[in-house]
Parts: sequence; C-alpha cells; structure tokens
Amino acid sequence: MEATLVLLDGDGIGPEVLREARKVLDTVAQTFGHTFTYDHRLIGGCAIDQRGTSLPPDTVEAAQAADAVLLGAVGGPKWDDPRAPDRPERGILGIRKALGLFANLRPVHLHPHLVQASTLKPQVLEGVDLLVVRELTGGIYFGPRQEAGDAGQEAYDTMLYTRPEIERVVRLAADAAMGRRRRLASVDKANVLASSRLWRRVATEVLAEYPDLEVEHVLVDAMAMHLIRRPGDFDVIVAGNLFGDILTDEAAMLAGSMGMLPSASLGDSPNRHGHPRGLYEPIHGSAPDIAGQGIANPLAAVLSAALLLRYSLGLEQEAQAVEQAVAQVLDEGVRTPDIAHTGTETVTTQVMGDLVVQALRASAPAPSQMP
Ligand code: NAD
Repeated sequence: MEATLVLLDGDGIGPEVLREARKVLDTVAQTFGHTFTYDHRLIGGCAIDQRGTSLPPDTVEAAQAADAVLLGAVGGPKWDDPRAPDRPERGILGIRKALGLFANLRPVHLHPHLVQASTLKPQVLEGVDLLVVRELTGGIYFGPRQEAGDAGQEAYDTMLYTRPEIERVVRLAADAAMGRRRRLASVDKANVLASSRLWRRVATEVLAEYPDLEVEHVLVDAMAMHLIRRPGDFDVIVAGNLFGDILTDEAAMLAGSMGMLPSASLGDSPNRHGHPRGLYEPIHGSAPDIAGQGIANPLAAVLSAALLLRYSLGLEQEAQAVEQAVAQVLDEGVRTPDIAHTGTETVTTQVMGDLVVQALRASAPAPSQMP
C-alpha cells in the first residue's frame, strides 16, 4: 500500500516521541512491503514562532490531502500568556474542525507488568481492555453561551445535541465494539438532562441495528464509579463531549502513566483508501519539564501510529504487530523513567524506539505470509 502521512511534531517532547514513531512506521513499511511518504508540517507553538499562527494554512491543506495525520504534542510556557492572540492548543482545535473529526477514541489496555504504575489495586485492574469513544464536536463545549450576564453575576453554557451528531458517533462506537468483545455502554444523564434523553432515544434506535451487541445505558455518575470499581467489565464506552472528556481522563489514569496511552480522532470523510482520515496523537502534552533530555516515553506515540495503521489504512495485522512489539519490549523489562520502579535501570527515548523496532523486525512475517 502507498500512503501519505502528515507528521506534526509540535513542541516540547513532540519531536522526540514522533521521531521514534516514524522509525516504527518505516520498519512496518519495510517489513510488510508498504510505501509511506511523510509530509512534515508545523502546528502549535513552533508554528506561532515561525509562521505567526498556530495552524498555518498549508498544514490544513496537507492534512486534508493526506491519508492520515500523526501529531506529537503542542504547547509550553513560552506560549502560555492568556492575553496572547493565538495559543498552541488552538492549532489542535482548528485541525480537528478542518478535518471534521467528530469522535475521539482512547483505548486503555493495561500491560500486566505496568499494574504497579496505577494508583488502583491490582485486583481491580485485572482484565482492563477498554475503548472510550468521546463525541468531539458537539454538546456543551460548542452550544450557545453567555459569559458577561448581569454585571458578571450570571453565565451559562448550553448542552445542545442533534440527532445526526448522536447517530454518527454511536454508530462508530458500535462498529468498533463489533470488532472487539461486542459490548457497548452508552453514557448519559437521561434522568436529568433533555439532551441526554435525546441521546438515549437515538442511541437505542441506532443500537437496535446491532442485535449481536450487548448494550447497556449507564448514567454518567454511575459510570464514573464503575470505572474505578470494576473497569474490567467494560469493552466500548460511548459518551458525549463533556462526559467523555471527564471519563477519558479517568480511564487514562487506570493505566498509570501518561506516556503509554494513544488516541485517535476520526471523522467520516474517507481518505483515498476508503478509510476515515484520522488524527492520531498521544494523550500526553508536550511535557516541558522533561523536553530535550531524551527521557520521554515514546510508546504512546508509537501506539498512536499503530492506531493510524488500523483505522486510517486498514492494516490490522501491521497494527497488531506494532502493539505486540511494544508488549514484548515491556515484557523484557525495558523502561523509560516514567514507568520504572525507583532504583531500576531505565533507557532513553531513542533506545526504547530502537528496541521496539528490533522486536518488530524479529516478528515480521515471512514474505509468503505478507498481506
Ligand atoms: P503533560 O502531559 O505535558 O505532562 C504531565 C506530566 O506527565 C509531566 O510531568 C510530564 O513530564 C509527564 N509526561 C507526559 N508525557 C510523558 C511522556 N511521554 N514520557 C514521560 N513523561 C511524560 O501535561 P502538562 O504538563 O499539563 O502540559 C504541558 C503542556 O502541554 C501545556 O502547554 C499543555 O497545554 C500542553 N498539552 C498539550 C496537549 C496536546 O498537544 N494534545 C495535551 C495536553 C497538554
């Protein structure tokens, strides 16, 4: 397969972790016989410095023409002034909008050897393998709002959802669940909110099309509790923007370190291979406290590249090979400082990337087994 991938390094540790992800993609291309062309563009703080805007127009054009986009992270103290006319994070919101990305997917899979990195008890974490799907472009973050109000004494936000917005994200989550353990929990607050009652009604209608799916509707407050009491019982969870924002962060903490978790943002505009053109990024930020030291954990970026292979290129075997290479390296006890026990030996960002590449090469299929 031939694919064009836009790479957005961003700021802080962004370029460091993306370098390793690209090495892994290169290895996938070599060992499985694909051609990936990379198009490097600017976003975030570095774009403000070099081009005067957090999202230069050529970045948007390149992303819209590419098969998928892989992003490091943006932001840092240099661009933190709240009075600044532009901020690095605006670049991310802008590109999500330009690509019509309405669903954010965060898989949370806990490697057995990293259970100690979580604040939860090991027995609670047994079998955790979740996918949280968050609606990304609707709901209270985008509804009508008023800040000034009556002499600054009143403000409101509006949680507004339309049927098509709910339908498309619930359908995407249901399709994802069909490829997993076939269980879906739809989250709302239907006992109180009108928009949630619409959510539940539309979700129920859409999910009736999936008779093989085990479906439950869960109130968001109950889900917040279940996630830390019995996270292993869930497979795919779908929620609106606000509830999903909170639940994805809660779910991420099950895994302990920010350096381990990837994400995918998907829309319904297909790329030239007929798959959704997605934006893939680690869930962590630019980590200015460790930037430039060569100690950032690149695995979230590498696992984001695996999601890119799966969702935007339809290369499931290759995605699994990358995930297995990561699991193998962790099995062997290789650790960057963020996931290491105190006093144990650690490796640099680059060595971690090299070892994943090595494991991937070793597990490469014989030419006759290539897809
Ligand atoms: P952060 O995720 O950058 O860092 C939080 C903590 O986790 C830090 O101690 C950091 O060293 C550590 N950490 C994060 N990623 C790591 C990795 N790969 N390996 C090892 N340790 C890692 O969050 P923050 O400090 O709140 O934010 C820093 C900057 O990043 C801010 O400017 C923020 O706005 C931005 N940010 C960007 C994104 C994004 O690009 N999508 C997301 C969150 C925050």
